[in-house]
Amino acid sequence: MTQGAGTRVAVVGGGIGGLAAALFLARRGHTVTVLERDGHRPGHGLDEDFFDWRRPAVPQAVQPHGLLAPVRTVLRAETPDVYDAMLRMGAGERNELEWFTEPPPARPGDEDLVTVQTRRIVLETALYEAVRREPAVDLRLGEPAEGLIVDGRGDVPRVTGVRSRSGRHDADLVLDACGRRSPVPGWLSAAGCREVVVENHRIGIAYFCRWYRLSPGGPRNPGRVKAGSVAAFAVGGVFPSDNGTFAVSLTVSTADPTRGALLDPEVFERVARTFPAVAAWLDLRPEAISGVLAMGGLDNRWTGLCDDAGPVVTGLVGVGDAVTHTNPTMGQGVALALWAAQWVAAHAGEAAGDPAGFAGDFHRWTGRALRPWFDVQVAMDRANDSRLRNPARVPRNPRTEEARAQAALSACSWDDPVVMRARARIRHLVQPADEAYGTEEVRARLACWLAEHPDFTPVFDGPAREEWESAVRAAGQPL
Ligand SMILES: Cc1cc2nc3c(=O)[nH]c(=O)nc-3n(C[C@H](O)[C@H](O)[C@H](O)COP(=O)(O)OP(=O)(O)OC[C@H]3O[C@@H](n4cnc5c(N)ncnc54)[C@H](O)[C@@H]3O)c2cc1C
Repeated sequence: MTQGAGTRVAVVGGGIGGLAAALFLARRGHTVTVLERDGHRPGHGLDEDFFDWRRPAVPQAVQPHGLLAPVRTVLRAETPDVYDAMLRMGAGERNELEWFTEPPPARPGDEDLVTVQTRRIVLETALYEAVRREPAVDLRLGEPAEGLIVDGRGDVPRVTGVRSRSGRHDADLVLDACGRRSPVPGWLSAAGCREVVVENHRIGIAYFCRWYRLSPGGPRNPGRVKAGSVAAFAVGGVFPSDNGTFAVSLTVSTADPTRGALLDPEVFERVARTFPAVAAWLDLRPEAISGVLAMGGLDNRWTGLCDDAGPVVTGLVGVGDAVTHTNPTMGQGVALALWAAQWVAAHAGEAAGDPAGFAGDFHRWTGRALRPWFDVQVAMDRANDSRLRNPARVPRNPRTEEARAQAALSACSWDDPVVMRARARIRHLVQPADEAYGTEEVRARLACWLAEHPDFTPVFDGPAREEWESAVRAAGQPL
């Protein structure tokens, strides 16, 4: 056993965050019980598990997921067998600097700027198989947690276990890994705890996707094509995934009057083709393997278990979406979930002896490691909100100086590996934008690029509104 091992942990929720935490904890010598509401066991085949598993508690499961660098880094550090299993199941790796046919001279950290390209079922299956084989984890599928056991005798109530239909599961530490709709804040308040601290921002964005499979003997990708194209009022993107599958995704405002029409596969495909990045993939003549899958009703939500007076409860922390979930334009959810699972596994040995210290340390760590990325997403959504909400009033070209500077950095990154590296470090949660873009070197490269492109005007490479609407009409749908 490692130092501080032997903690009894109850994990509520066996999604990505819960299974990863259970595994990381067990590998460090702790004993874990996982209660998962859903009784489904992966292993029926990736396509069946991905498309046919009805998952009302995880509605995003069929949406495309790009897994950022921390997912790979944490899995390779904690459970390399899980990562290897993902690669064997067909997950791909794409280093951001592969964009350049001539790779730039390597710098430390470049090797980690990798997106794992896969449907999320590959990660879920690999985690499930490893947890199933782990003697220190008691995985109870189809057994929802029904409430917490709370000891209210001290100054701060302490969670000492979880209840389910099979009885009580006493624990030194309970993890809330119930995802975006966690019942845990309600249970705490029913148990007489002070209210948890919730910050919530409604997001008026809807996601539409359709899955395709490339023909086995045909080309595997369209070559040097960007992953997405942007219109003033929408984004069209491609998510290359495992085993020759890829998803096309369209993101629009929930106020867009044409959004309902996108549920028709014919409309979806016509409209999607107006984005050059998507058209290049659809030109490979893939087979469609799903209908159009939609998701809206998203929030940027932060849930903290400490207020100004300190922890509202001890013996309980959250991982994954239960702590922070966001509009997924940055694709950070799984990375943040694995970071939290790793932190909890590394510190769980301290939870039983000093529950208040553990709660405070976790709170401070989330503030340092997770909160900045939540704040970036909130700021980004504020900036995009009025653009997406008022599609008719948005000019084709952004006009402010700030928008021009941002667009120049983005455009320049496709030509200059130094700027691409900075952009990749932001995308993969290595550095915030002001640090990564704020160096002398990046400023000099940008100035050089602008000198070579004196007439640079930022343009959207996606369709103009008329083109989008005519694609909707051409498929026989009224506006
Ligand atoms: C449209 C969309 C696209 C996304 N794209 C990306 C992306 O590209 N990259 C990325 O990294 N992230 C992405 N995400 C985010 C990612 O899906 C989540 O961050 C991730 O699923 C969080 O995992 P989790 O374990 O916290 O929650 P979940 O995966 O939701 O799991 C929670 C589990 O808790 C269980 N549960 C709930 N209540 C109980 C109970 N009472 N008892 C027992 N079990 C319970 C549920 O059944 C479920 O299995 C996206 C999200 C959305 C909405």
